[in-house]
Amino acid sequence: MRKIFVNEPVLDGNERKYLNECIDTNWISFEGPFVKKFEQGMAELTNRKYAVAVSNGSVALDTAVLALKIGEGDEVIMPTFTIISCAAPLVRVGAKPVLVDSDPYTWNMKVEDIESNITSKTKAIMVVHIYGLPVDMDPVLELAKKYNLYIIEDAAEMHGQTYKGRPCGSFGDISTFSFYPNKHITCGEGGMVLTNYEVLAERCASIRNLFFSSKKRYIHEELGYNFRMTNLQAAIGLAQLEKLDRTVAKKRHIGALYNKLLKDIGGLQIPVEKTDYADNIYWVYGVVLDDDLPIDADEFIKRLGEEGIGCRGFFWGMHEQPVFKEMNLFEEERYPVAENLARRGFYIPSGVNLNDDDQEYVVEKIKLILNQL
Ligand SMILES: *Cc1c(COP(=O)(O)O)cnc(C)c1O
Repeated sequence: MRKIFVNEPVLDGNERKYLNECIDTNWISFEGPFVKKFEQGMAELTNRKYAVAVSNGSVALDTAVLALKIGEGDEVIMPTFTIISCAAPLVRVGAKPVLVDSDPYTWNMKVEDIESNITSKTKAIMVVHIYGLPVDMDPVLELAKKYNLYIIEDAAEMHGQTYKGRPCGSFGDISTFSFYPNKHITCGEGGMVLTNYEVLAERCASIRNLFFSSKKRYIHEELGYNFRMTNLQAAIGLAQLEKLDRTVAKKRHIGALYNKLLKDIGGLQIPVEKTDYADNIYWVYGVVLDDDLPIDADEFIKRLGEEGIGCRGFFWGMHEQPVFKEMNLFEEERYPVAENLARRGFYIPSGVNLNDDDQEYVVEKIKLILNQL
């Protein structure tokens, strides 16, 4: 049977050459030259002064929260519809995630719900750009200014995307990226923290590296972590960064072709192609099953799996996570749009290795399943 994975990384640039350089020179650790080159490249991409490479996108968010000294009793407004990596750092430091629901079309946080959730305890707004379209940033920037709040920007799904022409990853007091294999740039595992503030950059670098004192090694005035990225990871990351334009163009091609093939079949909601601030970059190509279909996303994913097609369900809202229920967080809170997306949304194969023929095959099988209902 033909098999189409939900995603496969494509390592056809300088990845092998740079990795060989690591081995030939013996530089495999964090101290190697590719780490700095990759940091510099990501800072240039996002127009930021400082970049701090870390071991993955989840700890990039931990680093951001710790660097901003968000702690016990503080509140941070964030979308419920996201990955747990966004809420976990807040909960770990004793801060309270204050959730907002999603827009049913862009799937991003409902920006108009932010202001009514601001209290005297609010320290920050954590924006998370979802699946390919950025959050509408102008109103968020205005609120942050008006109420003197930090912005943490999770741009893990937005390498190469812009908002009104300005790069995603340039909006947060601290912004973060992930380089997991399904991201536009991968290094297997990896992450980046970006900022324009020297003090924050230094704090992030210290948090990443056990808070070694700059004066004397093995002296520590605060507790940090080992969140370091290796030179091997950065070598792959840099090679991936060099061909980001090509990756983004391919993602947009994939999105446009799926749009064309799926637009008129009925039964499914497809991604918004563009808003007045951005063209979709289709990090993943998500679909949401109409309410009147008799099966949910899990069942649809199972049936496509039986046809050899790999899919993944959408995020499951933070307010519905058993781990947080156990902590008595988000009791009785309801976010109907996010709940619907979690149950009826999933994404279909959208890796850069796909060709047009693969996409036509995927759509053919989707139609087959829809016709059987
Ligand atoms: C992938 C992702 C992360 C986590 O990154 P990892 O590198 O997998 O730890 C965080 N936030 C968002 C929005 C993501 O998509």
